[in-house]
Amino acid sequence: MKLNGGLVSMEEEYVFAQAAQRARRFAAAHPDARLISLGIGDVQGPLCPAATRAMARAVREQGRRRSFHGYGPEQGYQFLRQAISSELTRRGAPVPARDIFISDGAKSDLGGLLDLIAPGGQALLCDPTYPAVRDDCLIRGLRVNTVAGSPSDGFLPMPPPGSLAPDVIYLCSPANPTGAVYTRAQLAAWVDYARQRESLLLFDAAYAPFIGDESLPRSIYEIPGAEECAVELGSFSKLAGFTGTRCGYTVLPAALCCRGVPLQALWRRRQAARFNGVAYVVQRGAAAVLGPNGRRQTERALAVYRANARLLESTLTEAGIPHWGGLHAPYLWLACPQGLSSWGFFDFLLEYGWLVGTPGVGFGPAGEGYFRLSAFGDPDTVELAAERFLHALDYLR
Ligand code: PLP
Repeated sequence: MKLNGGLVSMEEEYVFAQAAQRARRFAAAHPDARLISLGIGDVQGPLCPAATRAMARAVREQGRRRSFHGYGPEQGYQFLRQAISSELTRRGAPVPARDIFISDGAKSDLGGLLDLIAPGGQALLCDPTYPAVRDDCLIRGLRVNTVAGSPSDGFLPMPPPGSLAPDVIYLCSPANPTGAVYTRAQLAAWVDYARQRESLLLFDAAYAPFIGDESLPRSIYEIPGAEECAVELGSFSKLAGFTGTRCGYTVLPAALCCRGVPLQALWRRRQAARFNGVAYVVQRGAAAVLGPNGRRQTERALAVYRANARLLESTLTEAGIPHWGGLHAPYLWLACPQGLSSWGFFDFLLEYGWLVGTPGVGFGPAGEGYFRLSAFGDPDTVELAAERFLHALDYLR
């Protein structure tokens, strides 16, 4: 057997696993320490009542012969595709239901979409970036090129000059880990770049529900021409607490072609080979999230995370620490004080604040010297964490 070299070359552990391991070691050595994690990328739940009621109804349907559903349509049930289409259209990105593919979350399709690219192709990623995508590229045998973000561009890297013609570009806005959000003009520049170079632009909109400013784009399809180069990935995970329930969607427009081959047909074929759809019960729950009650209820839950992010943002301002994100995202990205490295600040916060965050270097080399805080927590805990954060900084002065 010849092993997949890309997989073998991957670093052994994901940054989150490494951070969790260090935190566990610290907790074992300091049994009195009550650690608080500001490192979590997971929501705290629970699912909204509209979703759980719809799922309970769907479970009962599955228990009766006449309403039972077996294998569903691979592209997803029409009721959910239509609900997503209406939601995107309502927000200014008209996408027909026929272009929507229901997935079990954005992560699976981010990896799966790389099947459209020939092995050995070129990928262009931002640095720092959501690390799963870098791993996906390595597994697929793609060559990874990066464009680094920095304080000077607000961690919103723009297309690089030069002759690189990437087969695939990955953008995430609001971004994990920086929480930075591209403007319309910036996304338009990326769409132009992708069209000129005939690149496939993967636009990860998993955190779009956190955008509270109408002037910022929530979907790549708000940008003219995007339907000719971009695939968008959406998720119910952060929108509605579906991280453990699993539902997302991929928009692949009918107009998207590569050398005359429509990618939609290719993706449908790939899905038929590799995917058997998302559970009927889950799709009913997701559709309920987009109904009038579900929208109201999820908005209330999102408001809690937004308030947490604002509190963390004002804490960093008070501490005089340069930071990004947090206004339209559940993440804050900060420059480690006193020139500490990412892991140096991790260990410092653990020891002096009993706080766990995420070292920026885990998201790429350009993340060295930076640190990510997450606003996914209950408000009392986040408030206590903010106090401890300020208190810990006293030890640095
Ligand atoms: N994209 C980004 C940028 C993420 O941060 C995450 C999860 O943290 C995902 C995608 C995965 O989303 P899903 O739960 O829909 O697979």
